Amino acid sequence: MKNLSYLLVLFVALSLWSCNNEKKEVISDNKQETVVNETSEYLINATLWVQRSAEYRACCYQSFNFAKLALDSNLKTVKKDKPSAVVLDIDETVMDNSYFEAYLVQNDTSYTKENWKEWSDKQCATATPGAIEFLEYAKSKNVEIVYITNRRENESEATIANMEKAGFPEVKAENFYFRTDESSKDARRAMVAEKYNIILLVGDNLADFDSMLDDRSVNDGFDNVDNLKDQFGSLFIVLPNPMYGNWEKSLMKDENKTALQNKIEALIGYDEICK
Ligand SMILES: [Mg+2]
Repeated sequence: MKNLSYLLVLFVALSLWSCNNEKKEVISDNKQETVVNETSEYLINATLWVQRSAEYRACCYQSFNFAKLALDSNLKTVKKDKPSAVVLDIDETVMDNSYFEAYLVQNDTSYTKENWKEWSDKQCATATPGAIEFLEYAKSKNVEIVYITNRRENESEATIANMEKAGFPEVKAENFYFRTDESSKDARRAMVAEKYNIILLVGDNLADFDSMLDDRSVNDGFDNVDNLKDQFGSLFIVLPNPMYGNWEKSLMKDENKTALQNKIEALIGYDEICK
């Protein structure tokens, strides 16, 4: 009888443990919906790399230094029928939100629209290294600064206030294109292209450049990038973001497995590469 009670207690304890460790995941088509409840298990290194590695800083400077060269070069050939503009994404392109990712890890939680809004309302995001200098440079060349972001309309005031506080030049409300219905940025890019000649696109996600590039259905989207490889560094400037992105989508092959299991299975081991 004693043994039976012991087994019963063990069974209940194991059941509770397994419920607690049950992972929920919702993988969708943009950052703000890439929700995986294994945050603390895979996000720690990525967030530390952004916050604590000098290499991340160096990569950002490299991107923005290249952006200046590309801007100069493209200004020489652009048509003069319309003003020229540089189009930039906001999150993890010109603004660093790694503090929000760190919050998720430290609080063992994952993204929700609500906790993201709480963060953006605080107006505490900082400029990515080199962003402000690049934007000052664009301004000095009379290039219009336009932002296309998947932050939502209800974040517009806080976003603009945050950027003003962080010292961004030319923060004009009319030059911000927030997400309304769809996450794709194509329609908004087309609207910008009616007013301006877009001479440079800057982002951390391929969807910031062209939705065709963001299609990961074949070979993780590598072929699309290879086909446009000459555009990187000339028309497209990519910022590093190891913390999240649409690249994660194609890794989620089996919906019955957790995000972490899917990611481990997506790793390419030497057994595979050496055969
Ligand atoms: Mg971004």
